[in-house]
Amino acid sequence: MQHLDDWEQSWGTFARHPSLSAAPARIDDVFDRYLERLGGNYPFHHPRYAGQMLKPPHPVAMAAYMAAMRINPNNHALDGGPPTSAMEKEVVADLAHMLGLPKETLGHLTGGGTVANLEALWVAREQHPDRGFVCSEAAHYTHTRMAKVLGVRMDTVPTDAHERIDLNALEEVVQKGDVGTVVLTAGTTGLGVVDPIADAIALCRSHGVRVHVDAAYGGFFALAAQRDDVPPNFPAADFAAIAEADSVVIDPHKHGLQPYGCGCVLFRDPGVGTVYAHDSPYTYFTSDDLHLGEISLECSRPGAAAGALWCTLQILPLHPTDGVGAIVHTCLEAARTWAAAVREASALQLYMPPTTDIVAYAPRIDGSAADLNTASRGLFERAMTDERAPIFTSLYQVPAERATKHLEGVTPVHADQVSVLRSVLMKPEHRSYAASIVDRLNAWAEA
Ligand SMILES: *Cc1c(COP(=O)(O)O)cnc(C)c1O
Repeated sequence: MQHLDDWEQSWGTFARHPSLSAAPARIDDVFDRYLERLGGNYPFHHPRYAGQMLKPPHPVAMAAYMAAMRINPNNHALDGGPPTSAMEKEVVADLAHMLGLPKETLGHLTGGGTVANLEALWVAREQHPDRGFVCSEAAHYTHTRMAKVLGVRMDTVPTDAHERIDLNALEEVVQKGDVGTVVLTAGTTGLGVVDPIADAIALCRSHGVRVHVDAAYGGFFALAAQRDDVPPNFPAADFAAIAEADSVVIDPHKHGLQPYGCGCVLFRDPGVGTVYAHDSPYTYFTSDDLHLGEISLECSRPGAAAGALWCTLQILPLHPTDGVGAIVHTCLEAARTWAAAVREASALQLYMPPTTDIVAYAPRIDGSAADLNTASRGLFERAMTDERAPIFTSLYQVPAERATKHLEGVTPVHADQVSVLRSVLMKPEHRSYAASIVDRLNAWAEA
C-alpha cells in the first residue's frame, strides 16, 4: 500500500479522533465471539459441501477487496472512485465480450442478480409500457415479484419434461400481441437447466418481443460453450444465442469467484441509458465522462467489488480453456461424473441428466410419492449428520406427477410434491471427489 504511505508524507499525518479508538482487550473479546459465531456456518469451501450455490471467493478477490477497503471508493460517481470506476468499465466490457454482446453494450455492476434483473425489467417496461412480461415456471421467483414492484403483468409459461420453457406454450402467449418482454433463463436456480434460448429468441423476434436472459447463475458457462470439447447434454448453441438478447444479467458472485455484492446487468442497446436520466445537483462535478451512477438504479456501490473482479480476471481470465473457463468446464465434468456414479449406484437413481453443474437424483424405492419424500429426507439428514465425514446436499421439491415420469418405482400418490436430492457442484474440486461422495451416499441409501 505504497500510495497510502505516500499520502501520509504529502498530506501529513494527523491524530485520529479518540472517539474512534477501542481497547485492544475489547476488540479481542469481540473477535473471539464473532469467530465463534461464524463457526455456525456450514463449510462451504469443502468438496463435501454440495448443498446450495455457496463457496468462498477466490483469495485474490478477497485480498483485492480488502486492499480497496482502506480507501473505500464509491463507484456511484467518478469522483467517488476514479480508478475503480475505470476498472468497472473494463470488467463490464469483458463480461459483455464473453457473452458475445456487441462492443457498445452498456452495463454496470450491481449488488447482485436481484437488483440487476429489476433494472433489466424496469428498462424493458419503459420500452413497451403497455405490454406484459412472460417467464417460465422454473424462472427465479424474483421475476414475478419484481413485475409486481414494477406494476407489470407477469404470465408464467409451463415447462417441458426437462424443466425448460415450453416453446409451444410460449408461442401461444406471444402470439396474443400483448407481451413486451420474455424472460429466459440460462441456468435455473433449481436444476441448472437452460431454456431453449436460440429458438425462443427467434420466436420472440418474429413477434417484436424483447428478450431478457437471466444468466445470473449460468452466464459463465458461455465460456464452456466456446470449447471444442463440449460435454454431453450441454446446450452450447443456447449459450451462444445469449449474444442476441436485449439484456442479460450475470452474477460474478456466483461463478465469477467474487464475494457477495457483485451482480451485473448488460444492455445490448446503449440508447436505453436515457431511461436512467435524472438531475442530481451534487454528485458529479469533475468530468464530462459517463458516470456509472447515471446508468444505475443503485447510488452508492462498492468500488472494492469492481477492483476485486478486475484483479481476479487479470489472474483467471474469461478464456474458454484457461482461467474461469477451465474452472467452469471442470464443474460441468464434475456434474457428469456425479451423474455417471448415480447411474451405476444400486440404491440411487438420476432424476435428470445435468445440463450445467447441478445434479438431481433420488433414492431408488418402490412406493408412493410420500415414501420417496421420507427416503430423500432420510438420506439428506443421514449424510449431513455423519460424524466422520458429513456430506451436504439439498432437497428440491417437484410436483409428484412430474417426478414420477422421471423416476422408476414411484407412484404419484399420498403427496402432491416430492423431494429429490440436489447437489450443486460449483467448485472444481468436486470433479475428483464426485465418484467417492456418490459411493458413500449410495451406501447410506442401501442401509
Ligand atoms: C441467484 C439468482 C438470482 C438472484 O440473484 P442474487 O444475486 O441472489 O440477488 C436470479 N436469477 C437466477 C437464475 C439466480 O440463480
